[in-house]
Amino acid sequence: MNIHEYQAKALLREYGAPVSDGRVVTKAEEAKTAAGELDGPLWVVKAQIHAGGRGKGSFKEADAGEKGGVRLAKSVEEAAEEAKKMLGRTLVTHQTGPAGKQVNRIYFEDGSDISRELYLALLVDRQTSRISFVCSTEGGMDIEEVAASTPEKILSFDVDPATGYQPFHGRRVAFTLGLEGQAMKQCVKLMGILYKAFVEKDMEQLEINPLIVTEAGDLKVLDAKVGFDGNALYRHQDIASLRDETEEDSKELQASKYDLNYIALEGEIGCMVNGAGLAMATMDIIKLKGAEPANFLDVGGGATKEKVTEAFKIITSDKNVKGILVNIFGGIMRCDVIAEGVIAAVKEVGLQVPLVVRLEGTNVEKGREIINQSGLDVIAASDLNDAAEKIVKAVKG
Ligand code: ADP
Ligand code: MG
Repeated sequence: MNIHEYQAKALLREYGAPVSDGRVVTKAEEAKTAAGELDGPLWVVKAQIHAGGRGKGSFKEADAGEKGGVRLAKSVEEAAEEAKKMLGRTLVTHQTGPAGKQVNRIYFEDGSDISRELYLALLVDRQTSRISFVCSTEGGMDIEEVAASTPEKILSFDVDPATGYQPFHGRRVAFTLGLEGQAMKQCVKLMGILYKAFVEKDMEQLEINPLIVTEAGDLKVLDAKVGFDGNALYRHQDIASLRDETEEDSKELQASKYDLNYIALEGEIGCMVNGAGLAMATMDIIKLKGAEPANFLDVGGGATKEKVTEAFKIITSDKNVKGILVNIFGGIMRCDVIAEGVIAAVKEVGLQVPLVVRLEGTNVEKGREIINQSGLDVIAASDLNDAAEKIVKAVKG
């Protein structure tokens, strides 16, 4: 689960990290009062969306002005004016995709005098199963470019969980970033703070880009992108309450309410599968046969008819879906339950696209019988290869 920059900064502030004073608003009427609570003389007006690259982004609407999603203002009035231009408009960045994201919140922040922009991130390294520090002197808005063309400018190392964070980790970061004097000391302290927050809050990712050195020589967190492990949210009510559902894919949100493992993708073939491994294999074979999957979906081992019905409804609600492939290998999952769920869903929402069903395993005869007697226009498949070929043919001709 991701949160907004202003929420991440509030959280890091509680842990003692150096962040600027700021105010968030959701309505244009509140803008002037909120901006007026900051001292100036420089106001930074920042669009809050769950995506990076805002500074270099652009708005779809002409009345949002020429500038991106991070704007500087020299007065309260100007700050409020810029906020009004951005609220309700659609910001497109390299991370949002061409559809962009609607800006529903604006964060006003005290402007900083920047001497250097650095890059810092903590993340869970799946290779080593440890928390990793990633840092670079080349922070700011072009870190993707740095990673692609000069990866040697990015240092990463991991922390042994048995010892946890140690000051030498912080000194290593400070040395890599070329920090000296007070900034070096602040870095050792800040890395400890970030590591503690990361572990205590079950973060998945904590990216600070840029981490700056101010003209006065102090370190400051100027941007913050934080993601949490969804499986650990149950033990962090405070974090769970920061969830902004408007930022999430509505299909994924619906799926999470029914405890379905669903991830929306861009393709045209909706997939309903049981088991994550089989779901991956199903997506692979769809690609092999020349089409693209519209989603990943694992309905799980013990899915009920209601859950299957909901899953089917989510798949059909996706406008890109031109065909559906149901691929079930019933072990714990019973094929008749899947068949009943599919039929219940089709009765409720109708079937506008071709549907290929491949059932195998527990209660398979019963499952096939239910589908055959339903009168539905279902294309039966004998195995995975056959199923993939049939659905791709039905969609692509
Ligand atoms: P994004 O990464 O989405 O583009 P950032 O928060 O990193 O957004 O802002 C982009 C750039 O705007 C930063 O690299 C920095 O140069 C500038 N900036 C952001 N916040 C401030 C601030 N409080 N004071 C001065 N400059 C800022
Ligand atoms: Mg940034």
